Amino acid sequence: MSGTDTPRGEKTNEILFERARELIPGGVNSPVRAFGSVGGTPYFVEHAEGPFVHDVEGRCYIDYVQSYGPSILGHAHPAIVEAITTAAAKGTSYGAPTENEVLIADEMIRRVPGLEMIRLVSSGTEAVMSAIRLARGATGRHKIVKFAGNYHGHSDSLLVAGGSGVAQQGLVGSEGVTPGAVADTIVAPYNRVPVLDETIAVVVVEPVAANMGLVAPAPGFLEGLRAECDRIGSLLLFDEVITGFRLCRGGAAEWFGVIPDMWCFGKVIGGGLPMGAFGSSREIMAHLAPLGGVYQAGTLSGNPLATAAGLAAMSHLDTDAYGRLTAIAESLQEGMSKAFDDAGVAAVMPRVGPLLGLFFTDTEPTEFDSAKLAADNGVYRRFFHGMLDRGVAFAPGAYEAIFVSLAHGPAEIEATVAACREVAAELRPQD
Ligand SMILES: *Cc1c(COP(=O)(O)O)cnc(C)c1O
Repeated sequence: MSGTDTPRGEKTNEILFERARELIPGGVNSPVRAFGSVGGTPYFVEHAEGPFVHDVEGRCYIDYVQSYGPSILGHAHPAIVEAITTAAAKGTSYGAPTENEVLIADEMIRRVPGLEMIRLVSSGTEAVMSAIRLARGATGRHKIVKFAGNYHGHSDSLLVAGGSGVAQQGLVGSEGVTPGAVADTIVAPYNRVPVLDETIAVVVVEPVAANMGLVAPAPGFLEGLRAECDRIGSLLLFDEVITGFRLCRGGAAEWFGVIPDMWCFGKVIGGGLPMGAFGSSREIMAHLAPLGGVYQAGTLSGNPLATAAGLAAMSHLDTDAYGRLTAIAESLQEGMSKAFDDAGVAAVMPRVGPLLGLFFTDTEPTEFDSAKLAADNGVYRRFFHGMLDRGVAFAPGAYEAIFVSLAHGPAEIEATVAACREVAAELRPQD
């Protein structure tokens, strides 16, 4: 049989990881998964259901990674499994339009205040990359502004000062990106409104920063961006790949009452399958091919399995669901915060609705520099392994948010908090 089998035919995480590293750089298809910043061997998932992932060694974890956002209903939700299997039996990709593309576009546009048209793509990276091109095409301007610690996928012009895995690797950007590719990217500190000029096509922002841990927008920040963009005729782009359809029904625009000119979505909208989307007003979207001169395309865009899964997910995400999701995040926040407090461990758990973060520090970071100091102080890796040893999987990196799903019940929260109490006791500063 395969070379990954042990003599007894058992697969272990160690053996799989060793083989994976021979075949795939770092053994993973996305860097954060390699456990680089926390050390140790990643668990190889065999299956998952609801709030749990099971590894190939038969160990079960309460999962707060949840695919970094897409599994908002919990893993293998019956409605999503059914939608995908039904769709698969009808063919997996056609290269021709389908009704579900119309239905999901309609669903998204009805939910998000100000959104008039969308285009589907296959990842968040693709969504932001395409939206930036559109913004440049629509304005005739070249420069873009992004914020340090915000992550917008791995396209060349947006990796600079990126959060998430880029930050975790201690990279300021990436090798292989030419100076020319970033010459038109201006990086500004998060939570401070930059002064723009007429060269700026678009300001791209995570309305809640969720890739440098969780950093909420300061009061007035998003409003200030809106006003500054209006003053100078630049477009404002909300990268809602995490916040979209997770924060609330209408995403950040509804939550904060600030309407951007453009949106990017991903993660939740594919129901766990590869999908992203970008959208704007009719006027701006009219610049996109085949209507206008900004080219963008995709063989698997609007894929029938992804749209079926996305529609199924969306049909479970009503106002009541967001209330429940927020309550779950809140009870986790309360329980874990108290556990850290009781043990005398300096920790803050910022929360915006159902979005939750964790920093081992006294004061809540408001921008990338302070977020980095907190993320890189070495405490998170001890927390992470303490929890993993007790059957609770947080993201293997301090720059990621904590993702709860609708499948996380009181029993899982209670077990997580109990584990956290034990780990917090171990984290207590040496006396
Ligand atoms: C995950 C993420 C992306 C990139 O999406 P992929 O599907 O991983 O390409 C872009 N922006 C934000 C805010 C994200 O969290």
